[in-house]
Amino acid sequence: MDLYLYNTLTKKKEKFEPINPPYVGMYTCGPTVYNYAHIGNLRTYIFEDILKRVLIYNGYIVTHVMNITDVGHLTSDADEGEDKIEKEAKKERRSAWEIAEFYTEAFKRDLKKLNILEPTIWCKATDHIPDFIELIKILEQKGYTYRTSDGIYFDTSKVPDYGKLAGQDLEELLPGARVEFNPEKRNPTDFALWKFSPKDVKRQMEWDSPWGVGFPGWHIECSVMSTKYLGQPFDIHCGGVDHIPIHHTNEIAQSEAAYEKPMAKYWLHGEFLIMGEKKMAKSEGNFLTLSDLEEKSYHSLAYRYFCLTAHYRSPLRFTWSAIEGAQRALNRLYENMKRYPKIKADFDKEYEERFHQAINDDLDMPKALAILWELVKDDKIAPEVKRATIIQFDKVFGLSLDNPPEVKIEVPEEIWQLLEEREKARKEKNWEKADKIREEIKQRGYIIEDTPQGPRIKKATILNK
Ligand code: AMP
Ligand code: ZN
Repeated sequence: MDLYLYNTLTKKKEKFEPINPPYVGMYTCGPTVYNYAHIGNLRTYIFEDILKRVLIYNGYIVTHVMNITDVGHLTSDADEGEDKIEKEAKKERRSAWEIAEFYTEAFKRDLKKLNILEPTIWCKATDHIPDFIELIKILEQKGYTYRTSDGIYFDTSKVPDYGKLAGQDLEELLPGARVEFNPEKRNPTDFALWKFSPKDVKRQMEWDSPWGVGFPGWHIECSVMSTKYLGQPFDIHCGGVDHIPIHHTNEIAQSEAAYEKPMAKYWLHGEFLIMGEKKMAKSEGNFLTLSDLEEKSYHSLAYRYFCLTAHYRSPLRFTWSAIEGAQRALNRLYENMKRYPKIKADFDKEYEERFHQAINDDLDMPKALAILWELVKDDKIAPEVKRATIIQFDKVFGLSLDNPPEVKIEVPEEIWQLLEEREKARKEKNWEKADKIREEIKQRGYIIEDTPQGPRIKKATILNK
């Protein structure tokens, strides 16, 4: 079955044709390890994990590279401000190396909790300094660089198709529009390849280079490490949508200037997680971590389920009632899976076909979830076949449906079914039947509360005898 993916570079949904089938090389921009990842960041990694699982589902052999940015990401994308890691090190009174190590491990634990498959290759920026210097030398020889008082910069005016990834939006998003414009830059879009260590402060992370002691720019790291492990061009490069106008645009400029061939064939970007009115961001202060969810008794996989309810190219708004809904839905799936007999069976071909079509249509996970629920409720399918089919689907969902974790089940499946029957009766304006079901639910120890968002159900603490 053909797989279609939306390519930011061509702004079209395209048939996926890897450069060297059945192998697929995929590079995903990893975290800057100066703090815990927030659940917005994690939405992007969940999207990338779904993409990878869909590739594997389609029979491809995926080499997945993820970098760890442990140096060079400044507090502003316009190459100004402090290094995020050195700044946090000062705050926490630890070394920059310790900070990077600590938050890298925390990040890996988060991925595990979310059932995100480990990359084939992890690579750290600080392990590749000589490689960065090599690429900058190539760019220098080809005449793309110039020197300012604070570093070696890339001259974007030398690249005729600079900004092609962002297209027309680029003008509006130019870092030059920002207040921190550096007057020594020849063009507002120019960016640092190598920054010199400041004269007055001693940096913890710095290296010698042909241009002076300093540290690499952020974009150079991904250009170098992706090509080093995947070649150029490679198949897929991904990240969040915020990477389109600056980070990925600059990666393309450097890599294509240096090697005179395309950097990657497909570029995929995940939309933001929103909280309140704005995207979730550390700088906005409106962020939550997985631990914040756990503290309120939400399982990490409930967050994964929640992410699957929206298409990756649509913004998704986080609310507590939405995560509550996701946790309940997941509990119901777990409960159903526990009830199905563990008899060997083949999956249902028709359901599998529809599921496969949904995921191959640019990863339509909301549709795939709808098909899953339709299957759960389909009386014509034998329970062991349901089980086998759901396990097949879970190769992509990654919700541990085969082996559900222990979760506190507050409302058993039979009560949910009664609630659905009551909803149906209400829709048909059969008030008598609806009331009868409400009474039956009450007899079994549960209370329905009708709210503007729909009915809610909870365990009655005092039973009416
Ligand atoms: P960073 O550690 O800042 O480099 O970000 C790691 C990843 O998270 C990047 O791919 C970003 O695009 C992504 N990201 C940042 N904020 C959000 C958000 N609110 N929703 C989804 N992804 C995000
Ligand atoms: Zn990157």
